[in-house]
Amino acid sequence: MAATWMERARHSMPGGVNSPVRAFRSVGGDPVFVARGEGAMIFDAQGRRYVDYVLSYGPLIMGHRPAEVLGALKAALAKGTSFGMPTEEEVVLAETICDRVPSVEMVRLVNSGTEATMSAIRLARAATGRDRILKFEGCYHGHGDSFLVKAGSGALTLGHPTSPGVPADLAALTSVADYNDLDSAVRLFDAHPGEFACIIVEPIAGNIGCVPPRAGFLEGLKELAADRGALLIFDEVMTGFRVHAAGAQGLYGIDPDLTTMGKVIGGGLPVGAYGGRRDLMEQVAPAGPVYQAGTLSGNPLAVAAGQAALDALARPGFYEDLEERSAAVAMVLEGAAERAGCPLTLNRVGSMFCPYFAEGPVEDYAAVMGADAERHRRFFHALLEGGVMPAPSPFEAWFVSSAHDDEALEITAKAAEAAFRRAVAD
Ligand SMILES: *Cc1c(COP(=O)(O)O)cnc(C)c1O
Repeated sequence: MAATWMERARHSMPGGVNSPVRAFRSVGGDPVFVARGEGAMIFDAQGRRYVDYVLSYGPLIMGHRPAEVLGALKAALAKGTSFGMPTEEEVVLAETICDRVPSVEMVRLVNSGTEATMSAIRLARAATGRDRILKFEGCYHGHGDSFLVKAGSGALTLGHPTSPGVPADLAALTSVADYNDLDSAVRLFDAHPGEFACIIVEPIAGNIGCVPPRAGFLEGLKELAADRGALLIFDEVMTGFRVHAAGAQGLYGIDPDLTTMGKVIGGGLPVGAYGGRRDLMEQVAPAGPVYQAGTLSGNPLAVAAGQAALDALARPGFYEDLEERSAAVAMVLEGAAERAGCPLTLNRVGSMFCPYFAEGPVEDYAAVMGADAERHRRFFHALLEGGVMPAPSPFEAWFVSSAHDDEALEITAKAAEAAFRRAVAD
């Protein structure tokens, strides 16, 4: 059935999907077509049930269809779906974000993480009067042209486009350093004095699985940016409200100049946001000259869902409880791997984690790339058979929600025993 739908899908949509990872290219086979979700579970078109560790790639921190979000959506629907005019609700959401994340004094709502990061670097370029940006290999900041860039051969060469259609002249303005290697960033700043508008970084690299910052790395970036007159942007689209009530910056105690958000702040609806220092955000139109706009920005449904989610996250003990559930999931995976004699390095920060088929440690891009993709592929398909839906790529983070209960854990434990044995079988 899924195969038939996939054939149809390939006729009308590139690769049959609306976002590449959904096509299962890194694990092989046809993707599961989802019919519905409930709590920690998703159900496919045939009614098969899976414990969901994808959670829409991060937004669903309370699982599928949490009562709070559904209630808020129903109330919003009764009033209208979009106005293109100010609403009280969007003010409250902006205040909530500013209250929770101390470095964010003002915020602009947009429709996706991609929009947030594109707008943030525009603002950084405008505020500094400089064009060059620094990013890290393996960090993902959405699909804006300036981010689809890799390092040239040799650390100090110009950036090269990683996608056709990205102008080489624009890519040349993106310098690429190594994540968790402060010196590689310093060398780029030395090579281009006075040129960098900003450093943009995922404070926890979540698009190569889950690679936490080494001690001193983020602090070093903050100092480097400040010393050289550049801005520090934390891309917290994944980590914001996921790893801590104030995001990764709250967890590590570092205030960036600008922050981008998305995923969790939309409660499962399309939202992004960028914010930060008031003197910077005051430069965004119409307060200032830096143009950025959106027909559906601050959409009432998205704002209602996001507000309901952020309200629920503020309940005392939410993150402590999520930490316990996440630690339990990590423990059953690690235990099953050990019993199967399968080398595994599981990196975890709160409710985001990644099991790498590698001896470890996995602390940089090279180590991530060195993990065993074939073992991952076998592991992935065995888990699916066991009723568990992991991320369909060795480079995607897994997520745990507050809806992942004992039943979800039991199903996971059972499936993992078989899946790690399968992973190591020749
Ligand atoms: C998901 C993600 C983005 C892109 O967000 P979209 O809503 O998919 O455009 C940007 N940065 C990071 C760190 C992300 O995880």
